[in-house]
Order: sequence, then structure tokens, then C-alpha cells
Amino acid sequence: MKVITAEPTGLCFGVTRAIKTMEEALISNGRIFCIGSPIHNPQEVKRLENLGLVVVSDDDKVPPGEAVFVRAHGISPDVHRRLMDKNVRIIDGTCPFVRKAQKMAEQLSREGYFLLVLGDEYHPEIQGILGYVEGPYRVISQESDLKAIDKIDKIGIISQTTQQESTLKDIAYNAVGIAREIRVSNTICRATVERQEAVRRLAGSVDGIVVIGGHNSANTAKLFRIAQESGTPALWVEEAHQLDRGWLSGKATIGIAAGASTPDWLIKQLQQAIL
Ligand code: SF4
Repeated sequence: MKVITAEPTGLCFGVTRAIKTMEEALISNGRIFCIGSPIHNPQEVKRLENLGLVVVSDDDKVPPGEAVFVRAHGISPDVHRRLMDKNVRIIDGTCPFVRKAQKMAEQLSREGYFLLVLGDEYHPEIQGILGYVEGPYRVISQESDLKAIDKIDKIGIISQTTQQESTLKDIAYNAVGIAREIRVSNTICRATVERQEAVRRLAGSVDGIVVIGGHNSANTAKLFRIAQESGTPALWVEEAHQLDRGWLSGKATIGIAAGASTPDWLIKQLQQAIL
């Protein structure tokens, strides 16, 4: 059986960097706390927990004097301050693309722009970004949300890193109707879009696609949906042992795609299991 792996696929730059930083810190520190799961992949979280990672739900649960890892989504300045007050050592794994969105939020609001933030209000990345806003703002998810906003002198627009560029363009275009001055900072990272495009390309040249990634990973779910919509038979597993051998039979070429939070070791196990 032939196996073709999508390109690019699997861990994005920001998560790769965060895991490497965390592993190095675990080796030198032994135990590190993280507020929220550092990666949407249960198998990788378990591996890191075996190295000493302790996942807690919020900063209240981090004991004074401990080390805490900031995941790729980043944290707000308030949470940072509370941790510093507890004399906690901070190991910063904030993705540089998220950091850029935080800086733009701070800069535009300081310059007097009413800030429009495209994204999911309850997502930890947006919660962190909003902590940097120093003036009025609104979180919106689509262009039609602009209808609820009165005319404003200056509007600044930024986005959660994983949003669609087409939605940001629609919002920027339609904001012309409600503001005299508009400043848009495209803070979208293309990692998720590139992985989705890779699945669409792969679908045309294989007899079936196995998508590997956590069932709690939204970007893996999206890859699976794209594979299904392509008309190519698709299967979603978290680990190689979940492969259905009956599903494989009769297929000459199998494609593999992995979410942006699926580590290389899980992809390799899957490649070997199919061959
Ligand atoms: S998806 Fe993009 S912004 Fe998010 S962690 Fe990965 S590289 Fe960074």
C-alpha cells in the first residue's frame, strides 16, 4: 500500500516552538504548571505530564514560587501581573504571531482607535489579546456584526490568528461605511489555512484519507470535514491503533493529514501502521 502524507501537515511553527521550550524547561525544572491544556492533543499532553507538566484551570491554582508555562495562545497582562505577584517563574511559550496581535491591540487602542477584534470572544487567545486593549473595543465574528456599531471616527481592526482571511477582508471593506479612518492589521497566521489547502490537494490523488489528531482539536475537525466534503473516504483517529483495517482494504493509496496540534511521533506511528 502506498502512503502519501499531506504537505504541510501536523504541528505548526508556534506549537513546535512551545513544546520545545516546555521540554527544555521540564528537563531543567522537573515540574512546571500550565494554565489550560498546552496543546489540543491528549496523547502529547500525557507525554508531557509524564515529564512533570501539571495542567491547572486558572492562575489561582498555581502555587507561589513555582514555574509556569505560558502556552502559544498567550495570557493577558493582568494574569501575568498576578503570577509575578506570587513570585512565579514565567516560561513564555506565546507564539510570535499571537504576540504581534497583542502588540497591535495595545498600539491601536493607545492611538485612539476603536478596536474591532475578529474572533471568538471566549477563546483563550482572544482573552489574552483583550487584556492589551486600553480603550473601547468590540469582538465580532462576521461582517454583519458591524450593523450594531454606530458611526465612529477611527476604527482599528485586528484578528484572532486562526480566522479566515476572507472574513477579515469583508469586515475591513464594510467598515468604510461607519468610520472616517480605518487601520487594519492582518494578524492572521496562515498555518491552519495551509494545512486545509494541503488536504484539498491530497484528496484528488488518494483512495482514502486518514486524519490524525485530538478529538478536542477544532482544526483537526475542520481537516476531517474538508476530507469528507472532497468525496474521498475519510477516517479520523487519535492514535494508530484505532485504525480500522477493514476500511483500508481495497485501497491502493492512502493519504495522511494531521491537525496543527498533532506531534510527529503520532504521525510516524500511523505511517508505519498503514504500510
Ligand atoms: S496556528 Fe499560527 S498563531 Fe497559532 S500557534 Fe500555530 S503558528 Fe502560532
